[in-house]
Amino acid sequence: MTAILETRQLNKRFGGLSAVADVSIAVATGEIHCLIGPNGAGKSTLFKLIAGTYAPSQGEVLFRGENVTHRKPYERVGRGMSIKLQVPSVFRDLPVAQNLEISLQRTLSGPAMETEKGRLLEFLQLKDDADRPAGVLAHGQQQWLEIGMALALKPALLLLDEPTAGMSPQETERTGDMIKSLNAQGMTVLVVEHDMTFVRQIAQQVTVLHLGRVFAQGNIDAVIADPRVEEIYLGKGHGH
Ligand code: ADP
Ligand code: MG
Repeated sequence: MTAILETRQLNKRFGGLSAVADVSIAVATGEIHCLIGPNGAGKSTLFKLIAGTYAPSQGEVLFRGENVTHRKPYERVGRGMSIKLQVPSVFRDLPVAQNLEISLQRTLSGPAMETEKGRLLEFLQLKDDADRPAGVLAHGQQQWLEIGMALALKPALLLLDEPTAGMSPQETERTGDMIKSLNAQGMTVLVVEHDMTFVRQIAQQVTVLHLGRVFAQGNIDAVIADPRVEEIYLGKGHGH
C-alpha cells in the first residue's frame, strides 16, 4: 500500500487534556477513509493536526512521502491537500459563482476558469443558484458549495469534517454519491463523520477514535462487525 497520508504517534494536549494521544493512521492513495468516534473523541483535533491548523505536542504528519509536521496550512494546500472544516465558511454576501471563482483563481484564469466553474456548478447541482448570494442557500447547499471550493483546488487528498452536519437524509445520500464519484475519478478522501448510515454508504477503510486514541482500525465491514465499536457508540451517544 502507498500511503498518501500518515500520522505517526500524534499527540495534542490542551492543558492537562490529551485530545489526541499516540494516533498513528495511514490513508492509502485512492481510498475513502472515514474517521469516526463518539462526541469528544478527538476527531476534529486530529483533523486540524493533519490540516496544519494545530501544531502537534508530539509526533509527525507525512503527506505524499514528505514530513509536513511543521508546514503551514497553505503549504499543505500547495502540496495537494484541500480542506472543508465542520462549520461552513462560504462568503455569504457574494454570489455562489464568485465563491467558486475565489478558489479557482488560485490555479486558473480566463476561459479555462469559466469551463471549470461551469463543471463545478453542475456537479454541485448549484447551476440555478449561481447568481444568488451564498448566504441565502439552504444549509446543505452551502455545505456543497464549500466542498466545491475545496475541489476547485484540484486536491489529491480531500479532507472533510462532518460534511453532512445539518443535512436531510436525502442531502446526506447525495453528498455520499458526490464523494464516491470524486473517488472514482482518483481522489483520495478522508472524512470525519459520526453518521453511521453515511459512513456505511461511502467508507472503505475506517479508523475509530475514542478518548483521543485509536480504538479500532480496518475495513468498514470488519469495523461494523466489531461489538466493541457498537458499545462505545451506544454507551456514549453520538451527538455533535
Ligand atoms: P470530536 O471532534 O471527536 O467531537 P474534538 O477533537 O473536538 O472531538 O475534541 C476532543 C477533546 O478535546 C474534547 O474533550 C474537547 O473538549 C477538547 N478540545 C478540543 N478543542 C479544544 C481547544 N481548542 N481547547 C481545549 N480543549 C479542546
Ligand atoms: Mg468534531
